[in-house]
Amino acid sequence: NAPLSEVDPEIAAVLNNELARQRDTLEMIASENFAPRSVLEAQGSVLTNKYAEGYPGRRYYGGCEHVDVAESLAIERVKTLFGAEYANVQPHSGAQANAAALAAMIKPGEKIMGLSLAHGGHLTHGMKLNFSGKLYEVAAYGVENDTHRLDMERVREQALAEKPQVIIAGWSAYPRHLDFAAFRSIADEVGALLWTDMAHFAGLVAAGLHPSPVPHSDVVTSTVHKTLSGPRSGVILAKQEWAKKLNSNVFPGQQGGPLMHVIAAKATAFKIAGTEEFKERQKRVLEGARIIAERLMGADVTEHGVSVLTGGTDVHLVLVDLRHSELDGQQAEDLLHSVGITVNRNAVPNDPRPPMVTSGLRIGTPALATRGFGSTEFAEVGEIIAAVLKPGADVEGLRARVSRLAADFPLYPGHEEW
Ligand code: PLP
Repeated sequence: NAPLSEVDPEIAAVLNNELARQRDTLEMIASENFAPRSVLEAQGSVLTNKYAEGYPGRRYYGGCEHVDVAESLAIERVKTLFGAEYANVQPHSGAQANAAALAAMIKPGEKIMGLSLAHGGHLTHGMKLNFSGKLYEVAAYGVENDTHRLDMERVREQALAEKPQVIIAGWSAYPRHLDFAAFRSIADEVGALLWTDMAHFAGLVAAGLHPSPVPHSDVVTSTVHKTLSGPRSGVILAKQEWAKKLNSNVFPGQQGGPLMHVIAAKATAFKIAGTEEFKERQKRVLEGARIIAERLMGADVTEHGVSVLTGGTDVHLVLVDLRHSELDGQQAEDLLHSVGITVNRNAVPNDPRPPMVTSGLRIGTPALATRGFGSTEFAEVGEIIAAVLKPGADVEGLRARVSRLAADFPLYPGHEEW
């Protein structure tokens, strides 16, 4: 019964060092967030000990009466949150939710059509080294060269030519709303199913600040840990007619025993996502991204070859285009890191630089909004990023400004260690 610090001081040190890093820096990776203490408590609990293969009320193990309550609460809450007829809360991750969803919808060898990885799609939407690219035939659509936006008429023409069995709506790096009604009508016209992967923008949908794909899609998948700020994991939503197929493709199709501690933490996250406080936070997420995009479109920045893809954002992230900047994505990421801001470099469409270097940055606001940042702080963050992207940045001075902001918004107050 000895504590972690005694049993394994090396790992205890990793936890504490990581807590200090999260506290002292500004986290702006668009796919990250801070799970609330309540979610961490549910996840770091005795539920990790329990095997519960099967579904609530139909388990292959005894002693599931309490974990059944947790899973049923998670299912009911997420259905209510998104207005879905069916939910499966067992996927261990977004990628596993996607693998199960595809396996339920089509057979290996059939064709999927999603946004290309190079234009902001996800690995699981057909990248050749991923299961999705190995098991299925892949056609990819892309954004337009000039606007960097989707042109739904061009997506339609491509779908008519390719005749995919599944059309995928969803992205990891695209700063605008998708037209789900147009995707639905294209899918109907070509006889395809429509799968939406809302991993990135699910929190915005939950708050009613982004169009919902649920009424338009046959199947919707999501992660729970991005804008939703729950535990690292996945979820599947669908119309009731998909229930049997999706359930059996998650378990036993893709997974064995569900992670009941994570499922309990999902239930808590879905409860929080239904609150007014969560909605208010998502408003700050959007406002922050808009403020930063606008700042990075200022003349003092653009004269150094920096621009913002699509000229702004509708969501929680900003895509910075460095194709005409002396800084490449790697250098810009490193410079921001040196002042205490964590972002990830990101290829832009038709990127002339190699994938490990790239000509772009993806900057997200969810984690800082969770920390409490509002328009004043996001304006200051925009100033700091703009200063970093211009030549001759005062790294020491900027680092001090970042430290002040971080100190003003304590993360997990009251925890000396974790
Ligand atoms: N789908 C999208 C659109 C994503 O952006 C991601 C993660 O980056 C995933 C799925 C995969 O989620 P996970 O990392 O939990 O497997």
